[in-house]
Amino acid sequence: MVKDSAKTSSVEEDGIFDEILTWAEAYARENGWRLNPELKKLEVVIRGLARNQRRYGLRYCPCRLRSGDAVADREIVCPCIFHEGEIARDGSCHCNLFFSLKTPESV
Ligand code: SF4
Repeated sequence: MVKDSAKTSSVEEDGIFDEILTWAEAYARENGWRLNPELKKLEVVIRGLARNQRRYGLRYCPCRLRSGDAVADREIVCPCIFHEGEIARDGSCHCNLFFSLKTPESV
């Protein structure tokens, strides 16, 4: 638990968390979507993206497994190639980061 908190702090302290949150807000707005209204769930996804950015240099989706093949794994750099279809079909992307405005506030 302490180890986990330490990782969380380092991601947030180096500014990556805020940088990704700002990007995600702007990207959602540009596309007519919104971010997950449940702040705790939103933070978990942003933290996962920030961790991957810090570790691997790219915003790999925290909800999908990397194959280790850098070319194939480009598909799961956020925003992944699947998100538009998922939002149109399910109302949100797989990680529940981006939501359609039609999706109810509580998920
Ligand atoms: S599922 Fe959502 S959070 Fe994950 S990479 Fe795709 S758009 Fe980003």
